[in-house]
Amino acid sequence: MIELLKKYGVKFTYYFKSRGAKMELIQFKYARLKDQFDSPSVDSRLKDIVYWLASWCWYNLEKSIIITHILRTQEQQDAIYNGNASYVREPWQSVHQYGRGVDLSVKYYTQVEIARIQDTLNKKFLYNKEGKNTCVVHDVGLGEHIHIQVDNSTETKFVKI
Ligand SMILES: [Zn+2]
Repeated sequence: MIELLKKYGVKFTYYFKSRGAKMELIQFKYARLKDQFDSPSVDSRLKDIVYWLASWCWYNLEKSIIITHILRTQEQQDAIYNGNASYVREPWQSVHQYGRGVDLSVKYYTQVEIARIQDTLNKKFLYNKEGKNTCVVHDVGLGEHIHIQVDNSTETKFVKI
């Protein structure tokens, strides 16, 4: 997937002809997020999904994707959920602590576009674990965002849609 995109010259920058300006296909809220994304700490299947989605958003919505969060420490996990009674009782870990989760901003999308992204990702990439999805739109205390994940024990299925 990545090789294919590179071959067609859409690695990170795509020339937005209709507006005559350069458009970043994948944007990062902070520079360190790009370093994280490029590092081996992030699951390559997750990277493939992000690249696929970036192309999809470009061709279908004419919008790029903005990555807002990738890797998370235990301390950050505790800070996010410290007001959550069930977490305090029995803390759980996040896929973000294992390089298997990426969050995207919803700021520049309409509700219809957010729903399309979620629906498309969950049809295209099967999480393969009961009750879990590849894409979830939620707010865990830091604002609504698009959360994309892959599982450690199951294989994400790429479905032709
Ligand atoms: Zn997340």
